[in-house]
Amino acid sequence: MPSMNEVLIIGGGIAGPVTAMALARAGIDSTVYEAYDRTADGVGAYLTFAVNGLDALAVLGLDELAARHAFATPSAVFRNGAGRWLGELPLGPARADGRVGMTIRRADLYRELRDEAIRRGVRVEYGKRLVHVERTETGVLAHFEDGSRAHGDALVGADGLRSRVRTVIDPLAPAGRYTGLLNTAGYADGVQVDAKAGVANMYFGKRCFFCYFRNPNGQLWWFANPPRPAEPAPGELAALSPEAFRAELLDLFSVDDTPATEIIEATEEIVSPWGTYDYPLTPVWRRDRMVIIGDAAHATSPAAGQGASMACEDAVELARCLRDAPDPEDAFAAFERLRRDRVERIVAMGKRNGDQKAVGPVARVVRDLVLPVVFRRMARAGAGSTAWVYDYAIDWDAPIHERVSKRPIQ
Ligand SMILES: Cc1cc2nc3c(=O)[nH]c(=O)nc-3n(C[C@H](O)[C@H](O)[C@H](O)COP(=O)(O)OP(=O)(O)OC[C@H]3O[C@@H](n4cnc5c(N)ncnc54)[C@H](O)[C@@H]3O)c2cc1C
Repeated sequence: MPSMNEVLIIGGGIAGPVTAMALARAGIDSTVYEAYDRTADGVGAYLTFAVNGLDALAVLGLDELAARHAFATPSAVFRNGAGRWLGELPLGPARADGRVGMTIRRADLYRELRDEAIRRGVRVEYGKRLVHVERTETGVLAHFEDGSRAHGDALVGADGLRSRVRTVIDPLAPAGRYTGLLNTAGYADGVQVDAKAGVANMYFGKRCFFCYFRNPNGQLWWFANPPRPAEPAPGELAALSPEAFRAELLDLFSVDDTPATEIIEATEEIVSPWGTYDYPLTPVWRRDRMVIIGDAAHATSPAAGQGASMACEDAVELARCLRDAPDPEDAFAAFERLRRDRVERIVAMGKRNGDQKAVGPVARVVRDLVLPVVFRRMARAGAGSTAWVYDYAIDWDAPIHERVSKRPIQ
């Protein structure tokens, strides 16, 4: 039987609401505290959600809901800046029912998950920015910026890349690693391209990486990764005017023979650029009755295409641990043992993928020679070479301690 009544979940992005729903399935109550007002979601960028993330959501019957505003994204085609074909790979193996990865606006996914959590009886409180946590005799007391407080048996930090809970747990937690790339995205109408719906068309441009997908509704969804070796200063990117940034992108792609410039010109509003970061090692995930999950514990470069999926896996696994362990500390230790190796390996993979995107002229020639060989080898190996990423089955009914008890305790 669960040994706690109320878990405080900080962050109402992806990991937060999914954790709350998984805990509900385990018979544990929780409340989600989200810093922003619920109207703050906006349109923004989109993300690609992999089959392993969908499998984790399926444990909670959420896979169909997540797919509601998404389109299927079965594979990626890679070309260089001259438009030369480098290879094609599936973005994870199709499941027996034909399900493949999908692409969805982040705001749509967030809204669906939060609304479903509320439908399932989870309390979600908006405008609650966590500033501090205190240990009490019976649990934890969370302090919010608006002066309010909440008491619970345990606290889960699902508060993303710039997690406050991470530094509450470990004031010496290392800062994120800047990847040297910016990210930006947009939605273009009225451009005719000869591309299969859903396929990621990836271009290693001479100066900048570009990718677009054709949504089955005809719209083109794209992103680009302008290299910016020096980490942007606070406020620097926000101060860029949309016109100046559009001109910068068009200039970057002017040397390529790809559809990038046409697609960017047809985009009404380009999402403001942001710097990309990862966390190759967050040494401390848990202390007393607090733990971090999702991006707060192991943010990966977007080049892994796994951040959202790992957040969902974490959420379901954490709920299993809290369901089965005698107390929160044991549960969090079991959770870390189950998850740390896998997520750190994926963060490393994301770094390797991202490093291919911004290389000098000599390395570019080598990359264009090497990548076709790599892609051919991966295609020949079939699903085997990437199985460790995509085939992560969560057996909800399996008691947690049976699986982890033989591993060393940290
Ligand atoms: C533009 C963009 C594109 C991406 N593309 C992909 C992709 O293609 N594929 C993929 O898998 N991943 C992608 N990612 C990463 C993915 O979005 C994250 O890995 C995922 O959202 C992590 O979920 P999370 O719940 O851990 O964190 P988040 O989704 O970031 O949620 C954290 C939540 O915590 C809230 N919060 C923060 N601080 C506090 C506080 N002090 N108190 C209360 N609440 C707080 C935030 O407002 C937010 O709602 C992308 C990310 C970005 C930004």
